[in-house]
Amino acid sequence: MTEDASTTPLMSLEHEELVIRKGRRSGVYTVVAVHSTRLGPALGGCRLWRYASSADGARDALRLSRTMTFKAAAADVRLGGGKGVICAPPGAPPSGRRRRDMLHDFADTVNVLEGSYITAEDVGTSSADMVTIAERSKYVSGLPRSKGGSGDPSPVTALGVEAAMRACCEYRFGTRDLAGKRVAIVGVGRVGSRLARRLSKAGVDLVLADIDEGKRTLVELLPRTRWADPNVALQADVDILAPCALGGAINETNVGRLRCSVVCGSANNQLSHEGLAEDLEAHGILYAPDFVANAGGLINIAVELEGYDPGEARRRTAAIEHTMARLLNEAKESGTTPLAAANQLARRRLERSASAESTHASTG
Ligand code: NAD
Repeated sequence: MTEDASTTPLMSLEHEELVIRKGRRSGVYTVVAVHSTRLGPALGGCRLWRYASSADGARDALRLSRTMTFKAAAADVRLGGGKGVICAPPGAPPSGRRRRDMLHDFADTVNVLEGSYITAEDVGTSSADMVTIAERSKYVSGLPRSKGGSGDPSPVTALGVEAAMRACCEYRFGTRDLAGKRVAIVGVGRVGSRLARRLSKAGVDLVLADIDEGKRTLVELLPRTRWADPNVALQADVDILAPCALGGAINETNVGRLRCSVVCGSANNQLSHEGLAEDLEAHGILYAPDFVANAGGLINIAVELEGYDPGEARRRTAAIEHTMARLLNEAKESGTTPLAAANQLARRRLERSASAESTHASTG
């Protein structure tokens, strides 16, 4: 996990902690990775997923927790970066007693970190799961509104992705108006389906895709919407491609085949490696850094931790439009990619915090 020293002049950005435990109730492996607590306790969702091995689950937690550090820094919230993983066994998603056991085992792993990691929902987990985890751990956010939490963050995440898209449209097409734009959403789960509804209201022509054919019913509910196979949708001739499924949607093989003008979606780690940001640029495609576009859920939790005010969460999330616009312009002026500009913004904030800490330590 060593960083390139040339890009980390003041501080190291290696992981702080990694906890992997075999659950005593469920027998499945649960993982928590804490990348950084420099800006505050490490926040990151709990992903319940079927991995080929527990090592793959740990790798995912390490990668995603690092993204969370950059996401929090770029969004200017006082939280660090962490991620939880439950390595689900093969077969259908666990339910009933088996699911409960896994969630309680995960809670035990969270407790080992004594508050340096706070969990929340992610792919495969819900607000109801957070209630189950909260039976054994107090380091839980994203509880339902009825339990004093902020509920499912997905609607706020979708709001933020739309805000980011408007900034991209202004930059690329000279207008933030989305009416008449063609958008392909790949993955219409919690965020993707809400994004589809928002964009449909804004007058967008939609292509929707998901590996789960059950999601197809959305097409009947929304005007100017058609269904496609995920691989077809990825390469559709559209203005904006919105990857809203799992990470790595854009890779070495398909990057040259994309026919969109903009990539802007909710998925974490949309590029299978960061170098693809330059390939997209070379192909004339504007890439909206994922950790900036999808920060709405994190901002929602940051507001929850201060005492939840939904209006404040939405106001701060809508400001993603300004952050994205600023990054796109900075990238243009400095001749870098928007991803490089976003990484620089996050690093500047982390370094500022590191130097403020060392000043405090030497004077305190
Ligand atoms: P979800 O599990 O509700 O939805 C994911 C959807 O993607 C599912 O419908 C699934 O069937 C589909 N899918 C999986 N693999 C696919 C593939 N190869 N092609 C097409 N569809 C595929 O998850 P979500 O909460 O909507 O999150 C979606 C993405 O956004 C994830 O990468 C998540 O990490 C990221 N994200 C979510 C939030 C949030 O608030 N939920 C916040 C920030 C980032």
